[in-house]
Amino acid sequence: MADLLTDISYLKGVGPSRAKLLKTELGVHTFGDLLTYLPFRYVDRSHVVTVDSVDPNAPYSVLRGRINDIRITPTSKYSERLTASFTDGTGIIDLVWFQGVKWIKESLKNDRPYLLMGKITMFGDRMQMAHPDIEPYVYSEQIQNHRFLPVYGTTEKLKAAGLNPKGISRLVDLLLMQLRNQIPETLPDYILSKYRLMGRESALRNMHFPYESSKLSQATYRMKFEELFWLQINYQYARYSRSRLSVGEVFSVVGHYFNTFYSECLPFQLTSAQKRVVKEIRNDMRSGFQMNRLLQGDVGSGKTLVALLSMLLAVDNGCQACMMAPTEILAVQHYNTIKKLLGDKLDLNVELLTGAMKMSQKRVLKSRLSNGDIHLLIGTHALIENDVVFQKLGLVVIDEQHRFGVEQRSKLWAKSVVPPHILVMTATPIPRTLSMTLYADLDCSVIDELPPGRQPIKTVHKTDSFRSLLFDFMRKQIAIGRQVYVVYPLINESETLDLKDLMDGYESMSRAFPSPQYQLSIVHGRQDPDIKAYEMERFKKGETHIMVSTTVIEVGVDVPNATVMVIENAERFGLSQLHQLRGRVGRGGGDSYCILMTSDKLSKTAQARIEIMCETTDGFRIAEADLKLRGPGDMQGTQQSGVLDLKLADLVDDEPLVVATRDEVRSILESDPELQLPQHYTLRKYLQSKRSKKSWDRII
Ligand code: ADP
Ligand code: MG
Repeated sequence: MADLLTDISYLKGVGPSRAKLLKTELGVHTFGDLLTYLPFRYVDRSHVVTVDSVDPNAPYSVLRGRINDIRITPTSKYSERLTASFTDGTGIIDLVWFQGVKWIKESLKNDRPYLLMGKITMFGDRMQMAHPDIEPYVYSEQIQNHRFLPVYGTTEKLKAAGLNPKGISRLVDLLLMQLRNQIPETLPDYILSKYRLMGRESALRNMHFPYESSKLSQATYRMKFEELFWLQINYQYARYSRSRLSVGEVFSVVGHYFNTFYSECLPFQLTSAQKRVVKEIRNDMRSGFQMNRLLQGDVGSGKTLVALLSMLLAVDNGCQACMMAPTEILAVQHYNTIKKLLGDKLDLNVELLTGAMKMSQKRVLKSRLSNGDIHLLIGTHALIENDVVFQKLGLVVIDEQHRFGVEQRSKLWAKSVVPPHILVMTATPIPRTLSMTLYADLDCSVIDELPPGRQPIKTVHKTDSFRSLLFDFMRKQIAIGRQVYVVYPLINESETLDLKDLMDGYESMSRAFPSPQYQLSIVHGRQDPDIKAYEMERFKKGETHIMVSTTVIEVGVDVPNATVMVIENAERFGLSQLHQLRGRVGRGGGDSYCILMTSDKLSKTAQARIEIMCETTDGFRIAEADLKLRGPGDMQGTQQSGVLDLKLADLVDDEPLVVATRDEVRSILESDPELQLPQHYTLRKYLQSKRSKKSWDRII
């Protein structure tokens, strides 16, 4: 008896050579694999168009008419082609075949009604269809019963073996016959009835050969549900088992450092979002389990302060804490900010460690670190080097998470016997649905509120013809005491070509803004760290008016007096990058502007990106738009997740389903963490079979 694990070569019509191709070309090894090899689209055969109304750009058209003038013409000594003329009385389509010419000719009959399906191509003003699907048109009933034709993805090699989309559909048809009543259900009954889901067998049958469109949509819904449900169960199960396994330091005290800072050093009131997030972090850190929390907060939402408060809690509980930033500039800035915030009321040793420091300095620092003399250490990835040893590391804060790989993070984790609590901060808002799936195994906090007094940033899109007006505008802003960023794209810092763009830009800026009246800074990734820091410092102090730079200033840099952000070749940046860059202005009291400069000719997506930027400054909306425009494949962090394996569900359109499956899985695991209840038997089985195939455990 056949089951889903039966090797595909046992299917009628397959045999060893086709089986091999199905495996290598499509990854279809078993009956079950073919069963879930779903059509990527359907042709609605009842949607018949006429020749004079056909859309030449449609991927597929269905027509009804007659053919005549069937003839074979030699094209060279060895090959020939078959042509025929199709008409439905409103116009003519030339049909052409290059293969199987002889037997196709035999099967075609003059002046019989046919159903013709395929893609139209234009040849001058003549319409042509190459290798169309054509079948005698008998009754309309025939169409009603098989109204939707599945279209399967295939490859050249498969086609050569007779497995074009139609050939594959024949195999699936045979398979479904053989598997009648033998496709097991994978979801518990109570879930099926709660969400009114179609049974699995019926859903799969309708996915391949939908009987009618309402059945197709019910089937699709069921399969999407299943897909998202498994993604959730995999991630959440991993998270539950990890949180039960990983013991963490218990930070039970809110003590001297936290309290003194809170009551005496805080320069402003925390926003309520900041307060809520600090509470969430505090609850994690005293739970007895290791914290793995992702903190999302839009640019300027005040994540640094939350990080500092969390680090003070660690110190209050006899631990050290460190904070890791992705660039030298940022590490230095965090260090300065934190020193300034702490003032001198607290007896705390805060130090900075970066790759640029002298060996001798590092040596002293490391020994102070290992004997516990340093409380807070701020730094770059130099922090994760093996010889950086803490006496007792209790909390690691990672700023701008996407720049650190999982491997780097896991190195930090290993720095302590009891793994330190981990707080990952990101200013790249992640669309809700994506974070619900991608980070289903992480706890998430969101700062969804900006500190009061933020200035809205006016964003405009301009092209080169505006340049002299742009310069005038910059001069006016500088005249009222403001500062300006001009940013050039740098796709890859090692590409000299990109650097040349920046240098050329700097030169033309210097000509338009001559010294001594105007002072310019330039900063890019290939500069000596000392020079970089010096230029940043000059700009920060207001000694220079214009900062010409690459995206090194993208994250975190904080100069409140800068109110104008000019982004050159803005079409070359991704949406989240543009959002980050724009977040550099609007931090002080003055009206702020972001000017997106592009060439005249923009691709559709580039145009859409720029429009979104001009429309909104809400990072979450931008992130959702980004997800819509680019799909999850290009989003930060999706590469190692299961999100990209989603075949049916769409993270943008299927948000309600993402939420429903997440909540359902959460409540299942809360009531039955090991899936031992009888009604969860199928879930446990399924999960076990999945987990043995792949390692689902992710480090963070
Ligand atoms: P980000 O979340 O982008 O890292 P920062 O932590 O750099 O944001 O904070 C941005 C600015 O907002 C800083 O100048 C900081 O001092 C200020 N800030 C943070 N929290 C508050 C608050 N509650 N009220 C007023 N200003 C705040
Ligand atoms: Mg920051």
